[in-house]
Amino acid sequence: MTEASRSQGHSSERLSLAMLQAENQRLRSQLDAMLREARLNQEKMRRFDLLERQVIGAASLAALIDTLLVEYKSLFELDAVTLALVDPLYEVGRVLGDPGHMAEGLLFLDSDVELQSLYTGTGRPLLAGLDEVPAFLFEDAPAGLASVALLPLLHHGRFIGSLNLGSRDAQRFVAGSSTDFLERLAALVAVCLDSALATERLKLAGLTDVLTGVHNRRYFESRCLEEVLAARRSGQPLVCMFLDVDHFKKLNDSLGHQAGDEVLRYVANLIKVQLRGSDVVARYGGEEFVVLLPATPGLAGLETAERIRRIVSVQSVPARVREDVRVTISIGVAMLQPLPEVSDATVLAADMIARADKALYEAKESGRNRVVAALDAA
Ligand code: GH3
Ligand code: MG
Ligand code: MG
Repeated sequence: MTEASRSQGHSSERLSLAMLQAENQRLRSQLDAMLREARLNQEKMRRFDLLERQVIGAASLAALIDTLLVEYKSLFELDAVTLALVDPLYEVGRVLGDPGHMAEGLLFLDSDVELQSLYTGTGRPLLAGLDEVPAFLFEDAPAGLASVALLPLLHHGRFIGSLNLGSRDAQRFVAGSSTDFLERLAALVAVCLDSALATERLKLAGLTDVLTGVHNRRYFESRCLEEVLAARRSGQPLVCMFLDVDHFKKLNDSLGHQAGDEVLRYVANLIKVQLRGSDVVARYGGEEFVVLLPATPGLAGLETAERIRRIVSVQSVPARVREDVRVTISIGVAMLQPLPEVSDATVLAADMIARADKALYEAKESGRNRVVAALDAA
């Protein structure tokens, strides 16, 4: 071997060693990247698993919605989460009661038309820039959102809502990225939402009077106790009234039971529209209704009773029953004064009901179509 060829051999060895080292380096960093990604995915899976358990385990519709709007946001470090629910009959709204209690980000849609056009029938999650999606989905969200992921919630092929995630990071949700996790979550949320709603409907049905649509006596009895407890805690007065249709038997006898039913529906509605959202109205039985006015002094309660009595007496029952049928009602009103913590709530509730009932009896005895107060606490 000549001197020249030996040196050539050395340099080619050095070259292939350098190439090997470079290749080694490249593979090593590729492996590092893969490991990093695997760790990230593992962490993502752990969080999804945690969220899924919370979604499945939510004790009520309100808890489920709260999990999505609050837990999801913090667990996945999102800057905004909103939930749009298709609720044409305002059923969900009613079930949830006062929307003020709900976390921010819940919105109701009158129909699924907007969702149909948003997801163009694909039913797949949508990853996009904020400016590419309808503004109403993130109306009250914090400023600076850059990218969003919209998850269609489908049940039996129908849109029931959309879960919407927003991030200030423009690279967080980019069109074309994998949406496997999100699709799985959306399917689970849709099933859980539908089932929570069905449970709430059942609960509601057991507490609603079928004829008039107002609450039934069972609901009133449990709610009355709650309101007495609340009044005792807060020291705020509570008003209870019993309302009974006058000479209803005669009306039934002359016009028939169907017309009688119609009158009950009509009176229930007249009472309801005179009250605040926080008031309670229930059918106590037959042609007798009961109303609770929380945080209301006796005088204001009497005024409300008088307003209801008057409006029933001056309006004619809708012509469906028969031309110019008029009914009157008698009302007994009792008030629960702010009370010391020691008194037994069940006894207080029973006493308040008995006093209102007695006042109603007096209203009947003294000529009907009138309001009688029994404001003296026992
Ligand atoms: P008062 O002025 O003293 O209250 O007399 P009233 O006739 O209203 O009272 P009474 O208790 O004598 O009669 C109540 C009637 O209400 C008798 C019952 O047949 C009728 N009633 C009870 N529930 C229903 C119902 O769901 N539908 C109809 N149509 N009638 C009912
Ligand atoms: Mg009656
Ligand atoms: Mg009666």
